[in-house]
Amino acid sequence: MNTLGIDIGGSAVKGAPVNTRTGRLLAPPHRIATPTVLPPAELARVVADLVAHFAWTGPIGVGFPGVVTHGTIRFLGNLHPDFVGCPIVKLLAQTLRRRQADIAVINDADAAGLAEVRFGAGRKRQGTILMLTFGTGVGSGLFLNGHLYPNTEFGHLRFHGQPAEKFVSAAAKDRRHLDFPAWAAEVDAYLHQLEAVLFPDLIIVGGGISADHAKWFPHLTLSTPIVPAKFFNEAGIVGAALAGEA
Ligand code: BGC
Repeated sequence: MNTLGIDIGGSAVKGAPVNTRTGRLLAPPHRIATPTVLPPAELARVVADLVAHFAWTGPIGVGFPGVVTHGTIRFLGNLHPDFVGCPIVKLLAQTLRRRQADIAVINDADAAGLAEVRFGAGRKRQGTILMLTFGTGVGSGLFLNGHLYPNTEFGHLRFHGQPAEKFVSAAAKDRRHLDFPAWAAEVDAYLHQLEAVLFPDLIIVGGGISADHAKWFPHLTLSTPIVPAKFFNEAGIVGAALAGEA
């Protein structure tokens, strides 16, 4: 089935139509920058612009950077605080003039993990797979034998007494002016905490900084195998589309 996958991030909304049987994008992704933090109704209009760009009338899957249960945002680390409690599926359906049944919204890192487990770095792998995305925040997706345990928020584990993403996200690397070895040392300490409680069989790393994996993976001292996402930064789009096909 062809589904429009949309990835809502801290600084942009991007999307593309995806063939959900193959995981292939059917057109180059379209990106709309969101330089300021937008409240729900305005962000929904950006999503509508993206849908209009592709003149899309089919099913839509959206990855959102927060906890989403039963179509409602429960928690988020970044973006506008008015999203907490927002019935996001209903809002998007109204804004796009579509049926709620045509729209699925899931956590963005869960979406990225779905893409990687189905078509990417975790394909045909059994056991526990931990997907982590390093961007504005840190997202997590936990899978057992291909099945998702949704809405884990490992980016918000306590680290140095605060949410870990404040120290180990890609944005934190820039904000703290850390070079790759210094940032990798922080990430290594954080990943050791996750390793000690989850004992994953594989860690997959996504987000833009996964493209630079050669600069920081060699500094990690984990016993768990760690690999970059096959889809790099497009895992979120592909995975959102997979969620939308259901
Ligand atoms: C949010 C997560 C999200 C991650 C990556 C975090 O701040 O709490 O839900 O997956 O950022 O966008």
